[in-house]
Amino acid sequence: MIPYGRQSISALDIDSVVDVLRSDFLTQGPVIPRFEAAVAASVGADFGVAVNSATSALHIACLALGVGSGDVVWTSANTFVASANCARYCGAEIDFVDIDPVSYNMCTAQLREKLIQARVSGKLPKVVIPVHFAGQPCNMLEIHSLSKEFGFKILEDASHAIGASYSGLRVGSCTHSSIVVFSFHPVKIITTGEGGMAMTNSLELAERMRRLRTHGITTDKSLMQARASEEIWNYQQLELGFNYRMTDMQAALGLSQLARLNEYITARRRIAKTYDTQLKCLPITLPREGPDLQSSYHLYSVRIPKQAGKTQRHVFNSLIESGVAANLHYIPAHRHPYYENMGFKLGDFPESEQFHREALSLPIYPELQPEQQKLVIDALGGALA
Ligand SMILES: *Cc1c(COP(=O)(O)O)cnc(C)c1O
Repeated sequence: MIPYGRQSISALDIDSVVDVLRSDFLTQGPVIPRFEAAVAASVGADFGVAVNSATSALHIACLALGVGSGDVVWTSANTFVASANCARYCGAEIDFVDIDPVSYNMCTAQLREKLIQARVSGKLPKVVIPVHFAGQPCNMLEIHSLSKEFGFKILEDASHAIGASYSGLRVGSCTHSSIVVFSFHPVKIITTGEGGMAMTNSLELAERMRRLRTHGITTDKSLMQARASEEIWNYQQLELGFNYRMTDMQAALGLSQLARLNEYITARRRIAKTYDTQLKCLPITLPREGPDLQSSYHLYSVRIPKQAGKTQRHVFNSLIESGVAANLHYIPAHRHPYYENMGFKLGDFPESEQFHREALSLPIYPELQPEQQKLVIDALGGALA
C-alpha cells in the first residue's frame, strides 16, 4: 500500500538519536533549547517552545493568550479536531468559520461577516485560529487587519506548514499573529515521532508557555514568593500546568530532520508539480496555489465533483484496490458527534461539508518514488474511466 504520507529517516537521524541515548540527559537536557533555537532561526521567530505534540502546543498557546471560560474561540471548519479542542480544554466556547471554495482555508469574507454579526450580539472571539490547510498559507494580511478592527488575537495552526511562505514571509515568523504552532507527527513535514512547537516573538508568551509545559513550575527567583530563609525553595509551582515536555531523543531527531527541511519542501513541490501536469486532463479539481503563496504541500487534495461521473467513494475504493491508500482531510470538525452534541449540525458550514464529500488526499512525501507516483496517477485515471 502506498500511504498518503510518511516520514523519511536518514542514517544521520538515527545516529543523532543514539548519541542522546548514550548521553547524560534523555529529557530536560541541552538538545531541547538547541532544537528550539534552530526552528526559530529557520522560520524567523524570536522564540520556540518545544512540546510533546502540536495539540499540547495549541492548548498552552490558548492558555497563554488568556483563553478561559466565558471566552469564544473561532477556527476553520475544515481542520483536524485538535484546532478546536484546544479552546474546549480551556473551558471556552468554540465556533467555526467556513472555508473558501478555492483555497480550502478559512474564508476571510465570511470571517468579516461573522465578526460584524458577533459585534452586534456581543460575542466577539478572543482568539481566531486560522489553519494553513495542506501547507498553503491563509490570507494572513487580511486576517491580521480584521484582528485590529475587531480586537481578537491570532494563533496560527501551522501543523501542515513549516517551510511554507507568503508575501516573502516564512510561516512561523509570527509577523501577523501572536503564536504559530507546528506539528512534528510522522506524516507532517519534519518529524520527532510525536512533537510540536509554539513559536512567538513575545518573551512574556514564551516564558508563560515554558512554565505551562512543565506543571506551572518556575525556578526563576524573581518570580518566586519569599519564604522562610531556612527552608529550601529551589522551585515553586505558580499555576496549574502540565507535563507536555518533549524528550531530548525527539529533539535530536527534529534537529537532524530540520537540516533537510529545504530538501523535503523541494521534493514535495516537485511531486505536486508532477500531479499538476499529469492529472490536468482528468475531470477532477486540482489544488491551486494562490498568488504570492508558497505551499509546503503537506497534502495534495483533489476534488471529485459530480460532473466526474464517479463518486468519491468509488474512487477511494478503486484506489485502495490498486494499492493506493488515499485519505480524506477533513471530516468537518463540527460534524463529529462531540461537536454535534453542542448544537452544530449538517448545513452549518456548507463549503466545508461539500469539500468533505468530494476531497481525496493523494500520496505525497519526499520518498515517494517516480514509479509509485505513476502508479497513483494511473490508478486515479482508471478509477475515473
Ligand atoms: C496534525 C495536526 C494537529 C495535531 O498535531 P499533533 O502533533 O498530532 O498533536 C493539529 N492541527 C492540525 C491541522 C493537524 O493537521
